[in-house]
Amino acid sequence: PVRVRFCPSPTGNPHVGLVRTALFNWAFARHHQGTLVFRIEDTDAARDSEESYQQLLDAMRWLGLDWDEGPEVGGPHAPYRQSQRMDIYKDVAEKLLAAGHAYHCYCTTEELDARRDAARAAGKPSGYDGHCRDLSDAQKAAYEDGGRTSIVRFRMPDEALTFTDLVRGDITVQPENVPDYGIVRANGAPLYTLVNPVDDALMEITHVLRGEDLLSSTPRQIALYAALTELGIAKQTPQFGHLPYVMGEGNKKLSKRDPQASLNLYRERGFLREGLLNYLSLLGWSIAEDRDIFDIDEMVAAFDIKDVNANPARFDLKKCEHINAEHIRKLDVKTFTEACGPWLQAPFAPWAPEAFDADVFAEIAPHAQTRVTVLSEITANVDFLFLDEPATDEASWAKAMKEGSDALLVTARANLIAAEWNAEALKAAILAAGEEHGLKLGKAQAPVRVAVTGRTIGLPLFESLEILGRERTIARIDAALA
Ligand code: GLU
Repeated sequence: PVRVRFCPSPTGNPHVGLVRTALFNWAFARHHQGTLVFRIEDTDAARDSEESYQQLLDAMRWLGLDWDEGPEVGGPHAPYRQSQRMDIYKDVAEKLLAAGHAYHCYCTTEELDARRDAARAAGKPSGYDGHCRDLSDAQKAAYEDGGRTSIVRFRMPDEALTFTDLVRGDITVQPENVPDYGIVRANGAPLYTLVNPVDDALMEITHVLRGEDLLSSTPRQIALYAALTELGIAKQTPQFGHLPYVMGEGNKKLSKRDPQASLNLYRERGFLREGLLNYLSLLGWSIAEDRDIFDIDEMVAAFDIKDVNANPARFDLKKCEHINAEHIRKLDVKTFTEACGPWLQAPFAPWAPEAFDADVFAEIAPHAQTRVTVLSEITANVDFLFLDEPATDEASWAKAMKEGSDALLVTARANLIAAEWNAEALKAAILAAGEEHGLKLGKAQAPVRVAVTGRTIGLPLFESLEILGRERTIARIDAALA
């Protein structure tokens, strides 16, 4: 059975790269009716935070990426927070030391730096040179008597290492490129290099799907797996698949610190989880050549790690918005209305809470649903219905209210008073007013729109007027003429 994991470190806010990794693991697990393990890699007390941990859980829930084992749901390999598993790592490190797969290294940073610089200058491999690999007991004692501390280093095999990456195919690395590496700090704190594969082994992970930035740690982890298998700690070595980099502006790697990368931003702007997941799934994968829009069940049904592209993916906000808009269009109007909820209230809504009328919103909602790209746009599109006076924007006013606008408004006002109050008749009324002043419909409706809604751009005008009602429409035209 397939067992995959999503194992973020709780540092900072969740970002889109992280979500893409979570999504691909989740989709892979669901496609194979496997298990998604959610593990928190919080071994770096200096950088980890409880707030970030809560945000990760909240993000997964909001996205609907449910996990089968992990925080709050538990599971056979609990606990799922590495900070609560320290005894396990200590024990494994001791076993690795006892079996000779790891050793104490007493080299100081200065010594390491000096030897590395010398190796570089001589054009030789500059990784750790194995200085402490085979110290005698006497040498160790001498170092310790001299007050030196030691880290624990894993002993890499001396042969080339080959593995098949599920995305990139066969990869071979030469031993000189993968030197022995630290797994426990001098203060006894285990490093990512140890805890991550140890937990993958103990949690019986079958597939490791993660970002390309971690590709270089894979040969080391595979060697560690071999040792863990020999010690009976690991049952199998997982298969690895490295998801392509996500590139942002200027073809640079999208960084966690990029504002565009923050998941919270997408939530605040009112992306639908369906839209965001659809877009993020396209970062390195596609469902079919000519298809961009699909729902999450379709993704799960089609997802195959072999279809993941090794080339860097480009993050394209416009496309992300476009896809989100398509998902907004697909909602039934009731779901759309519910989804708009947060943006129809404080702190987003500028109107008094009692001014909001759900029946009025129900009338305008179908018109808004075909136009907004993200849900947060709803507020400014409907505020004219719930504010006493339209929120007039200076630039819009200046653009629409030109010479002759007043005369047009006077005629339009008269026509509107006489018109039957339905969108079609209102259109005819404004069209006729325009004709009287030699203006096409577009030009004729601009001053009316700004007078009534406060802006030059908005929902279809005649439907908007119909919903606003005759009395308020006329009052706003009067106010504009005053
Ligand atoms: N905690 C690691 C990270 O967030 C996980 C890496 C991995 O998937 O192995 O980068």
